[in-house]
Amino acid sequence: MKKIKYPISWSKDNFSIKIFCSIPNIATGILVKASETFFIVDPGDGILRDLNKELKPSQILKVSDIFITHGHHDHVGGVWSLLTYLRVMNKTTPLTIHFPKGCIEILHIHNAFKKVYGEGLPYKIKLNEIDKGKSFTTNKVKVTAFPVIHKEYLFDRKTTRQVPSLGFKFTFEKKNICYGGDTAYCLELVKQAKGADLAIIEAGHDEDTPDGIHMTLNEAKSIGETAKEYFLVHVPE
Ligand SMILES: [Zn+2]
Repeated sequence: MKKIKYPISWSKDNFSIKIFCSIPNIATGILVKASETFFIVDPGDGILRDLNKELKPSQILKVSDIFITHGHHDHVGGVWSLLTYLRVMNKTTPLTIHFPKGCIEILHIHNAFKKVYGEGLPYKIKLNEIDKGKSFTTNKVKVTAFPVIHKEYLFDRKTTRQVPSLGFKFTFEKKNICYGGDTAYCLELVKQAKGADLAIIEAGHDEDTPDGIHMTLNEAKSIGETAKEYFLVHVPE
């Protein structure tokens, strides 16, 4: 597949998404805007550089929610700098971090951040640890978090283990965007992506045989094509 040129954007009325970057092992970074609401999804390294190009500092301070699909470094590498930026710039409104239950990377980043800056932090951080799947509304956007299948290699480079992983579907004014995060082919994503106004599907496995960690191009396309529009992301470069 030919190299994807980032950023990729999509918008319908007051609802939009911009994918600054989604390169396996390097970084992800996604901004969702629903009218005056700003969400950040999977802030990998470089998220502040990208937000700084896109938004005014006063808008970055309005970010109300961060969504984490899983704890791999290319999805959480920018969390520390984002939290610190919001402190330095004196954010006063609360911030909620939504993440899969058992994602120790986020728990440890949050603990360390509280230890270092806890006293006198100008904004409140709420953690929403999500077990399996659920739907909720935050800042006028309906969010459906759903479990996906994503694994990582252990030290022997052969054995794999499942990592706590979610996909998210965002619905605002009857339009919806489905983002699967990192996942192997899974029925939950098939269900959520079907009929979505936009599906963002990873195609991180560059061979034809499925590997239980990422999707092949054909698997990703077969899911994307059931949505009204779709982007393939997380393709190895
Ligand atoms: Zn991953």
